[in-house]
Amino acid sequence: MIKENIFKIKERISAASSRAGRDPATVTIVAVSKGRAVSQIKEAVALGMTDIGENRVQEAAMKVSAVPGATWHMVGHLQTNKVKEAVRLFDVIHSVDSVRLAQELDAQAGSISKVQDILLQVNTSGEASKFGFTPQDAAGVIGQITVFKNIRIRGLMTIAPVADDPGKIRPCFRALRQLRDELVSTGIVSGGLPVLSMGMSDDFEVAIEEGATVVRLGRAIFEG
Ligand SMILES: *Cc1c(COP(=O)(O)O)cnc(C)c1O
Repeated sequence: MIKENIFKIKERISAASSRAGRDPATVTIVAVSKGRAVSQIKEAVALGMTDIGENRVQEAAMKVSAVPGATWHMVGHLQTNKVKEAVRLFDVIHSVDSVRLAQELDAQAGSISKVQDILLQVNTSGEASKFGFTPQDAAGVIGQITVFKNIRIRGLMTIAPVADDPGKIRPCFRALRQLRDELVSTGIVSGGLPVLSMGMSDDFEVAIEEGATVVRLGRAIFEG
C-alpha cells in the first residue's frame, strides 16, 4: 500500500510541478510518521522516503534509533524543555516559533558542537490556534536570531488552515513565498532561505504550485 501511495504521490507532484513550470526534483517529500509503527517507517525508508517527520520528541526518540538511514524532521510545536533532546534527534527543526526557543536551540546545539538547521514557522493564516511568527515580525526575528551561531536558518514553514475552500489555502502558501522573497531581497540572511516547507496530504499540490520545496505528507503515504 505504501508503495502504491508513493507512486501516486510522485505522479501528482510531477503534474503540479509542470503546471508551475518547476522541476519535480526540487520538491522533497517528508514522510510524517507520527502514530505509525516502526515497521511502516522502515518500509517507507526502503522505498526511498528517507526524510521522516515527527511531531513529538518523545515519540521520535524511540523511532530514531530503531530506523537507521533516515533524515529526521521535527514538524510539531517544540517546548523549550525538550530542546536538549530534540537537537540530538533531529536534522531539521521546522517549527521554530519564538526567539526564546531559538536561543535555547543555539545553546543546546553549541553544547554538542552541532549547527542545528531550523526553519521559522510563520502563521500565514492569522488563525489564533496556529503557532508561528506573524509575517510582519519575521524580519525582526531573523535579525535577533542570526546572532546565534549554532543554528542556521534554512527557510520558512507554514501550516494552511483546514479548509474545503482552496481559495483560503493558496493565499497562505503564496504569502510564505512572498515573505521569503522579501526577506532574501533585504540580504538579512547570508545563505538565502532556500527551503519552503508547506503543504500536507490535502493541499500539497497547491503548495507546490506556489513554490514549496518540502511537502510534509502523513496520510497520503501511510493510509489508503
Ligand atoms: C501531521 C502533520 C503533517 C502531515 O499531515 P497529513 O495531513 O497526514 O499529511 C504535516 N505537518 C505537520 C506539522 C503535522 O503535524
